[in-house]
Amino acid sequence: MHEGLNLIGGEWVPASSGVTFRRHNPADLGDVVGEFPESLAADVEKAVAHAEEGAAEWGAAAAEKRADVLEAAARWLEDRAGDLVGELVREEGKTRAEAAMEVSRTPRNLRFYAAEAHRITGDSHPSADGGLVYTRREPVGVVGAITPWNFPLNIPSRKIGPALAAGNAVVFKPSPVTPLLAQRLVEALLAGGLPPKAIALVHGGAEAGAAVAADERVGAVTFTGSTRAGRAVHAAVGPSRRAQLEMGGKNPVVVMDDADLDRAAQIILKGAFGLSGQACTGTSRVIAHDAVHDELLDRVARAAEARVVGNGLDDGVQMGPLAADFQLEKFLDYVRIGEEEGAELVTGGRRLPGDGYFVAPAVFAGLAPDMRITREEIFGPVLGFQRASGLDEAVALANGTDYGLSAGIVTRDLDRALEFARRSESGLVKVNQPTSGMAMTVPFGGLKDSSTQTFKEQAGPSMMLFYLREKSVYITP
Ligand code: NAD
Repeated sequence: MHEGLNLIGGEWVPASSGVTFRRHNPADLGDVVGEFPESLAADVEKAVAHAEEGAAEWGAAAAEKRADVLEAAARWLEDRAGDLVGELVREEGKTRAEAAMEVSRTPRNLRFYAAEAHRITGDSHPSADGGLVYTRREPVGVVGAITPWNFPLNIPSRKIGPALAAGNAVVFKPSPVTPLLAQRLVEALLAGGLPPKAIALVHGGAEAGAAVAADERVGAVTFTGSTRAGRAVHAAVGPSRRAQLEMGGKNPVVVMDDADLDRAAQIILKGAFGLSGQACTGTSRVIAHDAVHDELLDRVARAAEARVVGNGLDDGVQMGPLAADFQLEKFLDYVRIGEEEGAELVTGGRRLPGDGYFVAPAVFAGLAPDMRITREEIFGPVLGFQRASGLDEAVALANGTDYGLSAGIVTRDLDRALEFARRSESGLVKVNQPTSGMAMTVPFGGLKDSSTQTFKEQAGPSMMLFYLREKSVYITP
C-alpha cells in the first residue's frame, strides 16, 4: 500500500489534522492502492502561502528554463510508462489500452506547453504623442488546479503545463479517487527540476477544493469536474479573479438515413462505452433517423451485450469497472429512473458478479425530451435512443439539453454534416467520429452549462492568456 503525502513548501507532509483516506482498486476491492491525507482549509492555507514564494522564484525563471523543466518531466513520465500504466489501471479501473493511451499523451502535452513558454509576447500600439504603448504579459502568480479522476494525468497536465509555462506556481487539488497518479505527475515535475515551492499538492475532497477556490491569493482557478461543483467554484472566485471551468456533458450522436450502420454502431460504441462511459465527451444519446432507428438499436444493443467487462489488466477485457462506489450507485439509480420514467431498457443496466464495480452497459430506447435520463449527465455506460424524422428534428433534440460539450453526426452527406456543425450548440462537433477524443493542438471547451465561455483549455489563443495577466504601458519619452 502506498503512503501518500501532501507536498507543501517543498516538504512531503501529512494533513495537519492527521486524518487520511484510503483508495481501493475498483476492480478488486480488497486491494488498497494507498492511503492519503484528507486535507482541509488549514492545509490549503499553508500550501498557498508557500506557493506565493514559489511563484516569485519561478516567475523570474527564463522561458528556456521553464521549457526545460517541462521537457524533463515529460521524459521522466516516458521512462516510467510501463509502471504508470499498471498504476492507472489499478487506481482508476481503466483498461490497459485506455491507460496506455493516457500515459503516452501526458508527456506530449507537457512538451506542447514547454514550447508555449517561448511564445509569450506582448503587442505594441500606435501612440498619439509619438511615444510607446505596449502590453506586458506576466504570470498571474498562484494558480489553483482542481481536477477530476477520469484522466488523472492528462487533465492535470493540461492545466499545470500551461500554468507553469507561463511562470506561475500551482496549488494542485486532484480528485480523491486518483491521488496516486496525481502524485506521480508532481514527482515528474520535481524530477524535471521545478523549484519545489512552485508546486503544491493538496490531497482531499470538496472541502480542500473549496478552500483553493476561496483563497484570494489564488489569482486563477482552473477546474474540471461536474457542473454542480464548477458553479460553486465560480461563485467562490468572484469577479476580481478568474476561473476556467470544464464541466459536464450529455453528448448526442445523430445518425442520418444515409449512414453506414456498421460504421455508425462502431462510432457509438466507442463513444458510449469507452472508459466505461466515464468520459466527459462520451456519447450518452443516439438520435437516429426513423429509417435506420430499429436496425441501429438492434446492432448497438447486441454489441453492448457482447462487451467483455472485467479487470482492465486481464487480456481481452473491453470495459473496466466503474471507478468508485458513488459511480456504481449513480449508474443503478439512473437505470431505475429511466425505467420509472417509461423508457425501455433494451439490455444491461445491472451489476455484474465479481469483487469490483462491474456493470453490464445499459441501452435504453424511447427516450422523451423531458425525461431525466435524456437531460441529466449520468457519467456511466448508459446510452439512450431518441427518434427523429429528419435533420431539423434531430438538431432540435441534439440541442435539447442544458449541456453543450460534444455532438456528432454520422452521414455521407457533407451538406448535412456542415449544416449540423453550424446549428449545433456544442463546443466540439464530430462528423463520422465518436463524440469522445480530441487533439491536443486544438482549442477545447463546451458551450452552455458545459464550460465557462471566457477561456478555452488545451490549445488556442485564449489558453495561455488565462495564465497571464496583461498590462497596457504608456510611455512618453
Ligand atoms: P466532481 O465535480 O465531483 O469533482 C471534481 C473536482 O472538484 C474534485 O477534485 C473534487 O474534489 C472537487 N470538488 C468537488 N466539489 C467541490 C467544490 N464545491 N469546490 C471546489 N472543488 C470541489 O467531478 P468528478 O466526479 O471528479 O468528475 C466527473 C465530472 O467531471 C463529470 O461531470 C464530467 O463530465 C466532468 N468532466 C469534464 C471534463 C471536461 O473537460 N468538460 C473532463 C473530465 C470530466
